[in-house]
Amino acid sequence: MENRERIVILGAGESGTGSAILAKQKGFDVFVSDSGRIKPVYREMLDENGIIYESGGHTERLIVNANEIIKSPGISENTPIVRVIRKKGIRIISEIEFAGRYTTAKKICITGSNGKTTTTSLIHHMMRKAGLNVGMAGNVGKSFAYQVAKENYDYYVLELSSFQLDGMYEFKADIAILLNITPDHLDRYNYDLQNYVDSKFRITQNLTEDEYFVFCSDDEITIKELERIVSKAVQLPFAYRKKKDEVAWIDYEDKMHIEFDDVDFSMSVEELALKGKHNSYNSMAAGIAGNVLKIRNDVIREALMDFQGVEHRLESVLTIHGINFMNDSKATNVNSTWYALESVRGNIVWIAGGIDKGNNYSELYNLVENKVKALVCLGKDNSRLLEAFRSRIETIVETQSMDEAVKTAYYLAKNEDTVLLSPACASFDLFENYEDRGRQFKAAVKRL
Ligand code: ADP
Repeated sequence: MENRERIVILGAGESGTGSAILAKQKGFDVFVSDSGRIKPVYREMLDENGIIYESGGHTERLIVNANEIIKSPGISENTPIVRVIRKKGIRIISEIEFAGRYTTAKKICITGSNGKTTTTSLIHHMMRKAGLNVGMAGNVGKSFAYQVAKENYDYYVLELSSFQLDGMYEFKADIAILLNITPDHLDRYNYDLQNYVDSKFRITQNLTEDEYFVFCSDDEITIKELERIVSKAVQLPFAYRKKKDEVAWIDYEDKMHIEFDDVDFSMSVEELALKGKHNSYNSMAAGIAGNVLKIRNDVIREALMDFQGVEHRLESVLTIHGINFMNDSKATNVNSTWYALESVRGNIVWIAGGIDKGNNYSELYNLVENKVKALVCLGKDNSRLLEAFRSRIETIVETQSMDEAVKTAYYLAKNEDTVLLSPACASFDLFENYEDRGRQFKAAVKRL
């Protein structure tokens, strides 16, 4: 069916290109505009689908004649073209909002400051094991819009960042999961935490009594916000220890329980594939979702036991002479490093550093004083790390390359110690991105 409404897409990355392909398929007049260079793979996809696009700048008159605009999550509200669009009152939505209009699949949506990719992948793994026809999208893999255009899934597990949630209005999740909220990306939210919290809570919008809201009742920001908002959804909170209404928790014998309606599930934390307190939260969230979906207990248990984890997230690399090497390169903020340090048993030789985004390291002092025997700084400028830890860690060494950092850490570690790369910082000073940093770490460990 021809539909001559004009849709303009800002940004031609994974999400923008997928949106363009779906919009074209639905008969819209489609135009894509990217202020930078478009990667060859996306250029080819646009060409193959006969989609008109520009790169290296935004031509205003070709944009402001749109009926609706799909903005890629990487583009800030403060860019001049977005300001112009806002002034004209043209509606801006996200790829997820757009694609959600064209599928009747059930959607399990995950957001939070940390743990999104891990939990999304874990739930996807569980659902596949249960034999469900399920796709995974959002911030991971192929875009949701592309899959809606090309695939025919009955379910989607969607990882949603706050930037995607910002452009969502009518979209409705079937199961909404909010893992946690800690300050992040405040530069995009006018340095006001409430704006970021509001964004995360959009995951609950439009939920009715037929849908489910899964959240962590240990998370203070979430709980405080819940007092303000009214949600009709069935509430399924989880916590480390059962306090009141939690439907999932861990008892004093390290057993995880999930109990609600006629669900009665338990397994030992020892058996969970993902280690560490943060991952127990992620496993509880996934276990609750599995039970809402009525997946059999033995399948849920098996999935939580044999999940392989996601690369660069507390990933075990190798054990050499009894020294365990772990890659947690994705830990780009203090909170995720806290959980990494917390999860390791025994002494740690800690590799950290990179671009410090104004970190407050004081949350780490306690763990560091108890567990970290040496710190290997790996960054162009290590002054903030040195300042924070000089009086708290006996041995601190500065390095400038991954090889040097890994060799130094290996030299400082002893049998049964863990060498942990968990930088608490962004990677762009010495590496292309956190994946590059993690890969270089693994390669350097293998060369030892
Ligand atoms: P996201 O997709 O939200 O960035 P990831 O699953 O990629 O989250 O994990 C990012 C980092 O956060 C990793 O270093 C991981 O060890 C840590 N992490 C994972 N789950 C949690 C959690 N529930 N709370 C805090 N930190 C977590």
